[in-house]
Amino acid sequence: MYRPVTPAVLSRLREIADPGRVVTDPDGLLDYTRDESPGPPFPPEALVKVRSSAEVSRIFELCRHERIALTPRGLGTGLAGGSVAVAGGIMVSTELMNRVIEVDERNLVVRTEPGVTVDHLQKACAEHGLYYPVDPASLEDCSIGGNIATNAGGARAFKYGVTADYVRGIEAVVPDGSVVRWGGKLHKNATGYGLGRILVGSEGTLAVTTEAVMRLVPKPKHQIDVLVPFDRLGQGVELVLRLVHDDRLLPAVVEFIERQGICACNKVLGSDLPFADAEIQVLVELEGNNREQVVEDCVRLGEIAMKLGAREPLVADNPTDQERLWTARRKLADTLKKLYPEVTAEDIVVPLAEVPATVEEVMRLQAKYGLTVIPFGHVGDGNIHVDVCRDSDRQDWHEVCDRLFDELIGYVLSRGGQISAEHGIGSEKKRWMKRALGPAELELMRCLKHAFDPDGILNPGKILPEK
Ligand SMILES: Cc1cc2nc3c(=O)[nH]c(=O)nc-3n(C[C@H](O)[C@H](O)[C@H](O)COP(=O)(O)OP(=O)(O)OC[C@H]3O[C@@H](n4cnc5c(N)ncnc54)[C@H](O)[C@@H]3O)c2cc1C
Repeated sequence: MYRPVTPAVLSRLREIADPGRVVTDPDGLLDYTRDESPGPPFPPEALVKVRSSAEVSRIFELCRHERIALTPRGLGTGLAGGSVAVAGGIMVSTELMNRVIEVDERNLVVRTEPGVTVDHLQKACAEHGLYYPVDPASLEDCSIGGNIATNAGGARAFKYGVTADYVRGIEAVVPDGSVVRWGGKLHKNATGYGLGRILVGSEGTLAVTTEAVMRLVPKPKHQIDVLVPFDRLGQGVELVLRLVHDDRLLPAVVEFIERQGICACNKVLGSDLPFADAEIQVLVELEGNNREQVVEDCVRLGEIAMKLGAREPLVADNPTDQERLWTARRKLADTLKKLYPEVTAEDIVVPLAEVPATVEEVMRLQAKYGLTVIPFGHVGDGNIHVDVCRDSDRQDWHEVCDRLFDELIGYVLSRGGQISAEHGIGSEKKRWMKRALGPAELELMRCLKHAFDPDGILNPGKILPEK
């Protein structure tokens, strides 16, 4: 379907970008052959580290003319194979577009290039006393452009929402080479179709984002973290509901880790993390501008937790203690990769009230299929990460893993859930799309893809299953 990148195409690319930013040697391409998902490597034929929307536009024109596939790439931390060049062709990396253009205090927005890491963006905003609260665990390594493309979430989504809630303006290049702009420094905008919003979560299949304007909020002055050990996850969910309903409290964070996850962290990090013998740990963060009020809320949280059957919680109100409480949650995904030769990570989402039964189902499937399965994630927003780890002697691991996920996905869909909360579909989860969505929805998505990319050159092989 796609033509190869010929020497003539390479010389055109070297005219568009400096020759030093066009990579073709296998060593230079090695880090771009996969993302953080377990799928097989696919080397692009050429990689261009772009610096501007004008360059992206000219590369699109070339790709259309020559019928070459183009794969957009942020920083490659994706967990769904979205930025992998499954059809070869040209990869466009935004890693050099890494400038925070402007923190606009008076309009409460930040204007940024797409290749900026989320950590860098947060720090740049903090220097102006403002807060970009979307907080993926990969924040030091992933780009804001990647976050927009996947509609990334993270630990603070329960209170602050996900990336989509912060996008105010987008500049992007569409496959015919036009540069399109939507929104700006506007906190409200009902002018026609929300073109920018359509790009959020489109996983680089509709356009390449070259600039974004993101909303900022004030950061509360005081935060207190509380780690609550429970025997059952149901108690953790009940805790959230009681805090919200009875006490009108909205924690910024409600995360959980199951016992095996803590043990894995202790083993790999050589640490002695608290409550390693509890079935479930729930990490709650409360915040506010009035310190006495936050302390009072924490006391109330402790009382409710104890009534629900928790053991004495641990409280952290300074950065050192808070870091200790967060260690396991932040390091878990990397830890599992160090401990096991292969890990397949899914990020299912169910209505909040279904979380306990879904985790029980995960544990039932672990026993049924005899695999090591570690659930953790965002209790507050119903997003459960299910990591299946390969024990080295297991020859039939891939096949059994597939059967486990097929059964789990069936369960999740039957409970009103979905197959991805924040990682996206990419090439890795496409096989479940016909179960997750109906034919009418899929057809509408195909029409949308065709409207943006009639030649099908942009990020082929992602999201949409074959008919
Ligand atoms: C340890 C770890 C923890 C993680 N924790 C979280 C978490 O808490 N929450 C969460 O949501 N995710 C998490 N992720 C997943 C990942 O970090 C996110 O999906 C992130 O948004 C990917 O950003 P990236 O820059 O690495 O993008 P890439 O992996 O390079 O690309 C991801 C997708 O975005 C597209 N894309 C990238 N840049 C652009 C652009 N400028 N224009 C158009 N399309 C583009 C790509 O084509 C691809 O489809 C985690 C990953 C790891 C490895």
